[in-house]
Amino acid sequence: MDCLFCKIIAGEIPSTKVYEDEYVYAFKDISPIAPLHYLFIPKQHISGASAITEENADVVGKIFMAIAKVAAQEKLESGFRVITNCGDDAGQTVHHLHFHLIAGQKMGWSADQGV
Ligand code: 5GP
Ligand code: ZN
Repeated sequence: MDCLFCKIIAGEIPSTKVYEDEYVYAFKDISPIAPLHYLFIPKQHISGASAITEENADVVGKIFMAIAKVAAQEKLESGFRVITNCGDDAGQTVHHLHFHLIAGQKMGWSADQGV
């Protein structure tokens, strides 16, 4: 399968790892939109939030546990945001489920701007 994030998990494309366990891989976004911008992905290929099912939903909890651990390690006590883009309107560019963790600045709230 020609999936960029599957290649990152396989180590075929380099990335800066920030967290890894049996189910989850997390790395620095190549084009950060905030002072801290990490991506959390399941090791299993899931195309996006619209493809979460009874069978694969457990990994979403694993991802959020990983996010909580990394947020504690990075001392993000003043706050952070988690985003998943799904489909064209949301601007999803990589069709492997991923959650953006962004932090390190005060953020606005707008559907077409984000930060
Ligand atoms: P999306 O737009 O699908 O929600 O997010 C995809 C994210 O992947 C973008 O923030 C983009 O900067 C990031 N990205 C795309 N290609 C690479 C890459 O090769 N390495 C890393 N670390 N991030 C990437
Ligand atoms: Zn994939």
